[in-house]
Amino acid sequence: MKCTGSCECGAVTYVIEAEMPDVTICHCGQCLRTSGHAWASVSVPVDTVEIAGTENLKWFTSSDIARRGFCTECGSSLFFERIGKNRIAIGAGTLTQPTELKTGKHIFIADKGDYYDISCDAPQYDFYE
Ligand SMILES: [Zn+2]
Repeated sequence: MKCTGSCECGAVTYVIEAEMPDVTICHCGQCLRTSGHAWASVSVPVDTVEIAGTENLKWFTSSDIARRGFCTECGSSLFFERIGKNRIAIGAGTLTQPTELKTGKHIFIADKGDYYDISCDAPQYDFYE
């Protein structure tokens, strides 16, 4: 399955050739702050993603295990990469619509913002599942 996507301004684009999993919505504090809200993503092998415009991509090392990729022009939150794991999460909102994907789960719900409830049938976990 081939999917494409981009940041808001189009300076960073990508093509994914992979089996697309369900969307995971992460409610951890890092995702809340870096995206402005819960961050929805799909996790695929790094080597299935081809990124163009990497000169406009800034990687922020957000923890010992991961880094997050942002567009330097428009600030879109595009990627979350597990360092050394061949896994990269792609911001689901940056995928070209229609994605025909569905939400599979919510994670780190104990850290979620206090200003919203999760009104969704997908399972909720207090950890990475
Ligand atoms: Zn951009």
